[in-house]
Amino acid sequence: MNALFLLMSIFVFSFLLAFGVSYLIVKKEDIKLKRLYTKRFTFAMFVYRCRLAIKNFILISILTTISLYVIGDSFFSFASISFWKFSFLFFVMVAVDDVWFYFIHRLMHINRFLYRKIHSVHHRAVPPIPMDYLFAHPIEAMGAAFGLIIGVIVLILISGNASIYVLAVYSFYRTIHELAVHSGFQIIPEKYLGWIGSSHHHFKHHKYHKGNYASAFTYLDKIFGTEIKEKSS
Ligand SMILES: [Zn+2]
Ligand SMILES: [Zn+2]
Repeated sequence: MNALFLLMSIFVFSFLLAFGVSYLIVKKEDIKLKRLYTKRFTFAMFVYRCRLAIKNFILISILTTISLYVIGDSFFSFASISFWKFSFLFFVMVAVDDVWFYFIHRLMHINRFLYRKIHSVHHRAVPPIPMDYLFAHPIEAMGAAFGLIIGVIVLILISGNASIYVLAVYSFYRTIHELAVHSGFQIIPEKYLGWIGSSHHHFKHHKYHKGNYASAFTYLDKIFGTEIKEKSS
């Protein structure tokens, strides 16, 4: 299955990138960039987090492989598409995945059982390192990864197939975005791009444990009144 092979290659490459960036941050504690987190890492922390991250990476890869296999090769297209169609479908993927994540994330905070048994694992990553987007209970990791599958289904419903180029770029973007929001480096200028879910946006979620549930954009938190407002932002 060509589509599956390409996506899995991107998954592996993204994971190695996440691992490499996290390792560099842990090693270079004298890094000149200003992080949002003041607590320092130890190498033991890194090893501890890697174990769960690797386990989740394997589980997510299995879930994605099975899902794409069930959907079937015929629904994936290698045909070239226009820039505008690509942009629209890419935006659809981001939006669908973000809505899915917002609601499951919020549910895991509202429901005390789900928070205690599942989501609290991710909040134990203090301070987070980039690859901590994979430091979560396996059920949460797979639940979040399912957003990609829902996105694929929506693409098929909209255009009759899922463009492999949209999926490939989206899979890579998704990892880069998650690395960025858990890096502690405020890369996006919030003053001008406040509608994008930034590192600071997610930092406040890890700080207060309530609010800022979305990942890619900030509009869902604004609409549903879950945005964390802080004077120092
Ligand atoms: Zn997080
Ligand atoms: Zn949370």
